[in-house]
Amino acid sequence: MKFGGTSVEDATAIDRVASIVKSRLPERPFVVVSAMAKVTDQLLAMAAAAGRGEREQALDGCRTLRERHYNTAGELLGTGLHTDLHTDLGAEFDSLDELLRGIVAVGELTPRTSDYVVSFGERLSSMIATPAFLARDIPAILVDAREVIITDAQHSRAVPQVDEINDRLQDRVEPLIEQGRVPIMGGFIGATREGVPTTIGRGGSDFSAALVGAGLGAERIEIWTDVDGIKTTDPRICADARRIKVISFEEAAELAYFGAKVLHPATVLPAVEKNIPVLVLNSRNPANEGTRILSRTPRSRSLFKAIAAKNRITIIEIVAARMLMAHGFLAKVFEIFARHRCAVDVVSTSEVSISLTVDSHEAIPQIAADLEQLAFVKYSGRKAIVCLVGENIRETAGVAAQVFDAIRDINVRMISQGASEINLTFVIDEADVPEAVRRLHAKFFAEVDAEVFD
Ligand code: ADP
Ligand code: ASP
Ligand code: MG
Repeated sequence: MKFGGTSVEDATAIDRVASIVKSRLPERPFVVVSAMAKVTDQLLAMAAAAGRGEREQALDGCRTLRERHYNTAGELLGTGLHTDLHTDLGAEFDSLDELLRGIVAVGELTPRTSDYVVSFGERLSSMIATPAFLARDIPAILVDAREVIITDAQHSRAVPQVDEINDRLQDRVEPLIEQGRVPIMGGFIGATREGVPTTIGRGGSDFSAALVGAGLGAERIEIWTDVDGIKTTDPRICADARRIKVISFEEAAELAYFGAKVLHPATVLPAVEKNIPVLVLNSRNPANEGTRILSRTPRSRSLFKAIAAKNRITIIEIVAARMLMAHGFLAKVFEIFARHRCAVDVVSTSEVSISLTVDSHEAIPQIAADLEQLAFVKYSGRKAIVCLVGENIRETAGVAAQVFDAIRDINVRMISQGASEINLTFVIDEADVPEAVRRLHAKFFAEVDAEVFD
């Protein structure tokens, strides 16, 4: 059971989480918690401020977080339990304070130190949740993610080492579950084999939950968030987005990859490999049945399952009139992206040019400079990928005509129909996203299969 930032944002939310976990006790849960809402962003901002030498701003941030965590702990626990926790939290905040001062002193923020700073978020929330659960008769026990989620050393997007994680789960976690305990672990963070804290990418607590679920052979993985499951589109863009009752692993993976923030893209993979169903549920409305992600789903009459949009995309155009058809050219191009560890999302090629999209990324000027050794290069930011997902796309004629008719006055920069044939993807200006998504939603989701959508 993974609870996201809003599900643990304050004492009321954590109390709600405790009731939800309690209702699952006979099923022997393992609990993963995110940092309290917004804390990761704040820690990153504090680390950046410290790196720029803005000492007071960084330390102010630390004081604000200290207050918030103390208050939450105080509200959740009676005085006796609170004294111990207060001491433990105090020690953590003292070391965060010291760390920030250290960053100011050296005048440099390295990725390694940044990961260390952000790791406080999930450590603190799990430290608070554990005694709060105990006080509510849940036999909780805190598990340090740094001892279980072993990763490589690529800070800020470290890669989990699955075999090692599974060994740790077997050695350290399974015995706890056997004893009837409920392990609680902070998501998002891990450590290298040497014990250096790492993080596995923004939104990564979902991924932590999936790794644990797969490693322990869980019956299911529950992702508890602040909406009633996966919706037909981002409810912040389209208020009438509908809940998807069931969706396939493949469809959910495409959606998450192309921007549906409700699920981290890496979440689905460990679940697929072990065929473990994933549920997306609402901690503020636990009675709602949410979304079930399954390997196979019933056939639906609707053309699409959902629309996702991913902002902060840059299009890179590579024009090489003579060279493009030469063998090995694409390999050279992609080798440059690989060297900069930059993932390419959408690609389209013509006789004389290649267009591709990447997440807007600090390394783009360097990547462009390297590409210029091969060809003429242009790049433009503030683009967005819009992706329509649904297994019926592959067998329906005229899909593209229907889609592009709905947005015929919006400038489309790239189009791609995924190799999986279950997505239709295009790239537009960020500014056009709300309008495009609303129009497509109105056109394709006004009438949908009631068995699949709520
Ligand atoms: P958590 O902190 O629980 O991980 P997130 O903020 O990461 O929560 O993800 C939940 C949010 O994802 C929702 O509040 C919603 O605004 C957004 N979202 C984007 N696309 C979708 C979608 N298709 N369905 C549901 N929520 C979506
Ligand atoms: N707290 C982390 C983040 O905000 C991880 C997560 O919440 O999933 O990215
Ligand atoms: Mg999330």
